[in-house]
Amino acid sequence: MDLNLKQNKNNLLFLPLGGANEIGMNVNLYHLDGKWIMVDLGVGFAYDVPGVDMLTADISFIKAHKKDLLAIIITHIHEDHIGAVQYLWEELRVPVYTTELAANFLRSKLSEFKLEKTVDIHIINKNKELALDPFKIEFLGLTHSVPEMKALIIKTPKGNILHTGDWKFDPDPVVGEISEKEKIREYGDKNEILAVVCDSTNAISEGHSKSEGDLYHSLKLLIQDRKGLVGVTTFASNIARIHTIARIAKECGRKVVLAGWSLHRIYEVAKKSGYFGESFDFISDREIKFFSKNEILVLSTGCQGEPLAATKKIATDTHPTIRFSKGDLMIFSSKIIPGNEKKIFELFDALAKKQIDVLTEKDHFVHVSGHPSQDELREMYALARPQIAVPVHGEFIHTKTHAEIAKEAGVTQTFQIENGLAVKLSHAGPEVAGFVKSGYFGVDGNQLIDINGRIIKERRKLENAGIAIISLMVNDSLELIANARITCIGSYDIDNDIDAKNFLNQEIKMILKGKAKELDLGKNIGFKFLKKKKQNRRLRETKILSDIEKSMRSRILKLFEELMGKRPVLEIIIHLG
Ligand SMILES: [Zn+2]
Ligand SMILES: [Zn+2]
Repeated sequence: MDLNLKQNKNNLLFLPLGGANEIGMNVNLYHLDGKWIMVDLGVGFAYDVPGVDMLTADISFIKAHKKDLLAIIITHIHEDHIGAVQYLWEELRVPVYTTELAANFLRSKLSEFKLEKTVDIHIINKNKELALDPFKIEFLGLTHSVPEMKALIIKTPKGNILHTGDWKFDPDPVVGEISEKEKIREYGDKNEILAVVCDSTNAISEGHSKSEGDLYHSLKLLIQDRKGLVGVTTFASNIARIHTIARIAKECGRKVVLAGWSLHRIYEVAKKSGYFGESFDFISDREIKFFSKNEILVLSTGCQGEPLAATKKIATDTHPTIRFSKGDLMIFSSKIIPGNEKKIFELFDALAKKQIDVLTEKDHFVHVSGHPSQDELREMYALARPQIAVPVHGEFIHTKTHAEIAKEAGVTQTFQIENGLAVKLSHAGPEVAGFVKSGYFGVDGNQLIDINGRIIKERRKLENAGIAIISLMVNDSLELIANARITCIGSYDIDNDIDAKNFLNQEIKMILKGKAKELDLGKNIGFKFLKKKKQNRRLRETKILSDIEKSMRSRILKLFEELMGKRPVLEIIIHLG
């Protein structure tokens, strides 16, 4: 059932275009009285899409209604919430509201696209409601692995929604403020929250997520007595972790070297936004040579095994200035994200071969999650006491388990949402309002391409068996003027198989001969007979050449199948000389 906007004009709708049944690419829409607001516009990781590492949501639905889109509100600086603004904002051209830290980060990213002056960015005032009629929005601080993560209370005459964003209840988040639980409790006590749209990332983890503050003690114990170089790799965006590690380095008499462009950027942005105010000792990688190994801590990008990132370069001795050797230490202060295992284990292996000690979350307490485990979800529902829970930011197993927890915590109604599904939220309960188009686009260099479209299909074919290009020049009598040019790329080593080349040429000649006979072009009349019907000549020539191409294609593909055991992509170009 397609979403009928006329019928739903006065309904409060929640419609995610991304991030509903997955972890990543969050794009959420809320609707009332014909107006929309968007919460977050993030990217997702692409797995097994040739040439594409990153995905954005298909936003064609809201693009068609952009005159009714009032704003984009960004909850925090993580790429799965902010990362698609640089790719998709121009299609929407509406104001962006966010915190100072996220605004600084966004401007830095937009400058690469020469958009930093074009995008209309407003910094939210956390003490003042944002009025976007018919919505009023109050911002609540929740702890996460980055500071300034803002949950939204979206207030409407049809009911209020708590959109949590990414969060955990961390009593000691290291940087930034602690969660504003009391504000949530105030709404909950008055039964003023209709629905909670909430993070499910860790819904299958029991207990309470550990605190960034506890991690500080564990990491310090692992680092303080080490001799030699110490490296820590983590997610570049994890400002809390950078802070924790920089503090430990200082206390252990080590200078911090940032390795990797994205860490440099986040450090500069965070500093500009008022973090890292204390006098931490950061030095550039070129200054390493002035210090002994015992005086350095390298903080590097690439904890997911990214092939071009600093940690990989360190492991393969291809970093321009940083050299690790036997007995040095590399700590992976990060999660092994499902899908990245192969690349990460290759990296562990490369480090181990160099006899560098490797510590990971599998064997040591070196990482904490930024998302709520089951006890925190229970606490959130006890505080907010909503009528409806809509779990998002998780795969089906996470959102399903999350819904069960919400029910146990006293929430009467839960709703399993999916990308492209609009749910009507009202005191009568959640109800399917209809579906809109949703999907994925791949970031491919400077273009966005449909990952189920022609380009990717062709790329997969090429990836599987390469291409053969046959270019021939024929005369009026359909005779080859010269031997056909056969070029094989990623398919067959034709240049070292003269027999195959000759055989293909013979076959081509035979096919041409057969066709000439069929068309009665034999008596040196050739294509000239077409001249009688001048106006149609071009058209008929084209038709004849395309007929020849068709009959040649199936035969030549068969021949390649005999040569290679599979069929390459085949391109036949016939010129009339
Ligand atoms: Zn996040
Ligand atoms: Zn997220």
